[in-house]
Amino acid sequence: MNTAGENKTTLGHDVTVTVLGSTGSVGMQTMDVAALHDLRVEAIAGGRNITRLEEQIRKFRPDFCAVEDEDAAKLLKIAVADTDTKILPGREGVIAAAAGKKSSVVLNSIIGTAGLEPTLTAIRAGKNVALANKETLVTAGEFVMREAREHGVSVLPVDSEHCAIFQCLNGEPKERVKKLLLTCSGGAFYGRKRAELSGVTRAEALAHPTWKMGPKITVDCASLMNKGLELIEAVRLFDVRPDQVQVLIHRESIVHSMVQYIDNAVMAQLSVPDMRLCIQYALTYPDRMPSCLEELDFLKAGRLTFAAPDEETFTLLPLAREAVTAGGTKTATLNGANEAAVALFLDDQITFTDIFDVVGEVVHGTESIPDPTLAEIEEADSAARIAVRDKVRSL
Ligand code: MG
Repeated sequence: MNTAGENKTTLGHDVTVTVLGSTGSVGMQTMDVAALHDLRVEAIAGGRNITRLEEQIRKFRPDFCAVEDEDAAKLLKIAVADTDTKILPGREGVIAAAAGKKSSVVLNSIIGTAGLEPTLTAIRAGKNVALANKETLVTAGEFVMREAREHGVSVLPVDSEHCAIFQCLNGEPKERVKKLLLTCSGGAFYGRKRAELSGVTRAEALAHPTWKMGPKITVDCASLMNKGLELIEAVRLFDVRPDQVQVLIHRESIVHSMVQYIDNAVMAQLSVPDMRLCIQYALTYPDRMPSCLEELDFLKAGRLTFAAPDEETFTLLPLAREAVTAGGTKTATLNGANEAAVALFLDDQITFTDIFDVVGEVVHGTESIPDPTLAEIEEADSAARIAVRDKVRSL
């Protein structure tokens, strides 16, 4: 038998976690991992889903629960008055939770650029950060990685591809790496051309072939922007050049990414697709623990296929490569524009291909500021959102 319970003692260090965004898709799966390994949860943070937060408080008994929505915080405080969990309201509450006290690792799965400030807070408080928020690295990656180095903490990738690369690198010096091979499921619209994409619906964009995720990231998968953001994330996390990252369409989502070394040896990480493996590895690193995953059965998996992405149709992928090559505030502009455009698409205000066009126009029409401060990054982000809404009004 290979159950987690029997192997609990193999965790070689104490793990106490804080989970930011605990009611979202990655957050919920993190709570599953915490339950499986009996990890101590110091704090959780959510937006306004107080039903779920109350369930988590009763199950995990955290010291703190931050609730970004202040009215929801008041209701939750009354609902859990019989527990010892202290409710921290508002944005300040989320920041206070990120700083933690006892936590060894802060998992941040807050969606979008709202995740940046909590990430920096956790790093400055000396916590390792398990990062499921890729926007943080896309908008302010150089800044975040520098802060992490200065505070002697690790940024542990939770994104499946980066978790795979992290495992394949496993301490090898950077000089030995020739390239990173970033795999991509191809999204809901693989094989379609531009003309076949203009009329696609919100529901079609939200049907992902292999991974189960929140709506924003699922739309990004369908547009391949997710892979563009991940390319930028890889450049920042692993300190490689953009031309050292090759994107490969791999429909089966079994090979989660690979590293090719200077001797042309390729290391790959394979498993059934399940985020809980990445979450667990980030939380328990450098230990490796039994998991709830099914074994990968190669006889059932059958053929594993690889193909080049269609960058003429899915223009956001080359746009992301262009943005990270340009550097400065360009990636913040790209991300801000995309977040605004996806929100408009999810709200049925623009078509799917409008996302490509509007984001492209805003990125190409905005000057990049080199070596930006955090304030300049935030300014680029909000200017991009405004530019998208202005363009959409004139459509
Ligand atoms: Mg990913």
